[in-house]
Amino acid sequence: MKPVLTFFFDALKPESLEYMPFLNSFAYKRRMRSELGHSVTCHPSMYSGVHPNKHLQWFIWKYDPVGTPFKWARVFKYLGLFDNVGSRYFLHKYTRTFREENTAWFGVPWMVNLPLKYWPYFNVVEDRSWDEPGYLKHYPTAFDILRSHNVDFEVVGMKKGAGNEFTQIGQHKFTRIRPWTYFFLGSIDPFSHKYTQTGPETIERMHKLDQLVETKYKEYSQHVSDFDVFVFSDHGHIKVDKRVDIHRHFKQHGSNLYRFIHLIEANYARFWFRTDKERAIVEHILSTLESGFILTPEHLHRYNIEMPDNRYGDMILLLERGGVFTKTIWGFNRRQMSMHGYLPDYLDSDGLFLSQRTLIKGIHVELVDILPTLLNSLGLPTPNYVDGRVLWKPSTE
Ligand SMILES: [Zn+2]
Repeated sequence: MKPVLTFFFDALKPESLEYMPFLNSFAYKRRMRSELGHSVTCHPSMYSGVHPNKHLQWFIWKYDPVGTPFKWARVFKYLGLFDNVGSRYFLHKYTRTFREENTAWFGVPWMVNLPLKYWPYFNVVEDRSWDEPGYLKHYPTAFDILRSHNVDFEVVGMKKGAGNEFTQIGQHKFTRIRPWTYFFLGSIDPFSHKYTQTGPETIERMHKLDQLVETKYKEYSQHVSDFDVFVFSDHGHIKVDKRVDIHRHFKQHGSNLYRFIHLIEANYARFWFRTDKERAIVEHILSTLESGFILTPEHLHRYNIEMPDNRYGDMILLLERGGVFTKTIWGFNRRQMSMHGYLPDYLDSDGLFLSQRTLIKGIHVELVDILPTLLNSLGLPTPNYVDGRVLWKPSTE
């Protein structure tokens, strides 16, 4: 067993290493193939070693009329008049229903551009933070596995509201070295959304974070002589070059998006159908939207996102690279300059994996490789259901 030091970056692509001299000095570099989805898809794959078709977490919201926290909103089926962005915000903020404990990264967000009558169809997928016990219902995470083996670890930087990396990680003291130290660096993603991944503000931030990682790495090295270190990220970023008003598109086809049970996120439009007629109408309208495509069973298979039921949609449209919807459940997307969650095949969708220890051959690694690689360093076996591989080159090779 060796102690392991890891640094996670939310959204960092290999091309950005030119702005990060310390990270760029790592001996072994690989491209990280992302999952088809956003953070809520990537993190469970990283921590459990299995793809979304096993851990079943693909989006923040799922169709769940039974478990929904929004049962109270059923009354709005008949009170359309009171339903606007202002009243939605007010109700979300002041209704007690929402005060139940949810410690997940996104908590229970409100849905800006979704009529209240549809809220009771949906529930959040995550009810707790990634590192809390039992985060996934069917698979243990790295944190669960280490806890069950009494292997100590510490997570630094993941606390919401506790300050940025320079506060949380910068002020961290290595008083006692645990078998696993996990530094979580979350700000490149919001910077990239706001300024793009190559904007001067983002590059300046990358430069500072590179120095922060170097400082922490050197401090750690003074306490431990033999350890494994790796740096990884979950996805890249793609510049927004098209804003799609799906409401207008439905109107142009003589329909209204609000007639259908749907969720519009950054670059995904998801639909649930009550009748075959609804399906036929939506399928026809979506097929005329040039900047997107409906995910087929082949897509679901290729990207390991087949689901046991329709919780994430009866029909899911993904925009082509660079496209975002203007009116989403998150807001109006006026300021998003860059986005992710497009097909993982685009090189710009790639994250990265860096290490000082020799890696197995290949250009790409996958998010599901993180768990077995970590466990291997810590002297723990890889559970046999795991989809990922140990990335260290065997010493006998
Ligand atoms: Zn993001």
